Amino acid sequence: MWTGNYFPSEEQKYKVIYFALGLIHILLVIYFFLIGYGIIAVYNIFSAIYYFTAAAAMRNTNDYFGIFFGAFIEILIFSAGISLLCGWQFGFGLYMVALGSVSFFVCYTSTSNKKHNLTLPTLFTALTLVFFIITKQMCDHLGPVYPRNVSQVYITIAYNFNVAVTFLSVFTFAIFFSLDIGKKEKELEKQNIALADISSIDPLTKLYNRRKMDGFLDEAVSRVKKTGDLFTVTIGDIDNFKMVNDIHGHNVGDEILMLVSKTMKENLPEDATLCRWGGEEFLILINKPEIDTIPIIEAVRYAVSQVSVDVQKPNGTIELGVTMTFGVHQYVHGFNIEKVISLADENLYYGKSNGKNRVVHSKTPK
Ligand code: GH3
Ligand code: MG
Ligand code: MG
Repeated sequence: MWTGNYFPSEEQKYKVIYFALGLIHILLVIYFFLIGYGIIAVYNIFSAIYYFTAAAAMRNTNDYFGIFFGAFIEILIFSAGISLLCGWQFGFGLYMVALGSVSFFVCYTSTSNKKHNLTLPTLFTALTLVFFIITKQMCDHLGPVYPRNVSQVYITIAYNFNVAVTFLSVFTFAIFFSLDIGKKEKELEKQNIALADISSIDPLTKLYNRRKMDGFLDEAVSRVKKTGDLFTVTIGDIDNFKMVNDIHGHNVGDEILMLVSKTMKENLPEDATLCRWGGEEFLILINKPEIDTIPIIEAVRYAVSQVSVDVQKPNGTIELGVTMTFGVHQYVHGFNIEKVISLADENLYYGKSNGKNRVVHSKTPK
């Protein structure tokens, strides 16, 4: 099924239009020669040359409006002029019907007219309507200015051809509009995804931020209420981090934050959710009871204690190790999430005041 997922460039679209207009004029050259309108045939030769040259010379310009304007004037004069010369029954006046949709399309998509000014195409359409009515009235009252004895068959061929061209142009511009809307929707979708990332990811550690984690915690609470499956909250905090900053500088502190984040992420199971809760604190949400979470956190604590960053000092490089303390607490029925987090926090602070670099949970002897 054609879903309209192909997005031609502006240049491609205008080239196709100009090429098609050139081809139509070539057919008209033949037609007018056949019915004995040599002068009109010659006029069509020039028009065809104009469209083919313009199509070939077209580069990714910003001024599609200028390109359109040339074609608009040409088509208006052509369809009114030929109708007056040969008679309304040939159907050349119908071309004017297609000009309205073309004007709106060009003014809407033209890159030099980003404000989507609707006044201009409305004026163009009104002008075309006035031209259409006046031309029809003049044809009715004056008859053909340049009469020729043309057989009914040729008139019918011209009429049906012109109806087809008119239909096709309206249809083509409807497709162009649909493609354009599809393209803009895709762009918006991409921007929305990028925005969602920006608003949920911590730029330094690339972990989820606190705002995003609040959403995951709410989901976990709803789930536990529905299914009874317990979850556990763990708060991890880097030990003596202020000292690292004070002694080695903020950049080294940032490097440690990034390394610790990466290490924790790598050592947590896929279904655990990790975020930077604030400063040098992290929150880990695991959809398991506390008893099953403790070994996971213990492994993370150990992994962090094994990494180090190289710090350049005037008298050589030093390896700077890092440790973390963790407070663990599982969800307690009837408690709100803030209460559960504060219980994990209490365990964390117990660990901080009892040697750091440890995992403290409900069953830790206190
Ligand atoms: P404790 O072992 O008790 O946790 O002591 P601490 O020094 O880690 O704790 P404290 O709360 O006194 O200090 C936290 C420090 O974390 C202070 C702050 O400057 C630093 N910090 C917070 N966010 C960042 C950051 O984004 N980058 C860097 N480099 N430092 C940060
Ligand atoms: Mg700390
Ligand atoms: Mg802290």
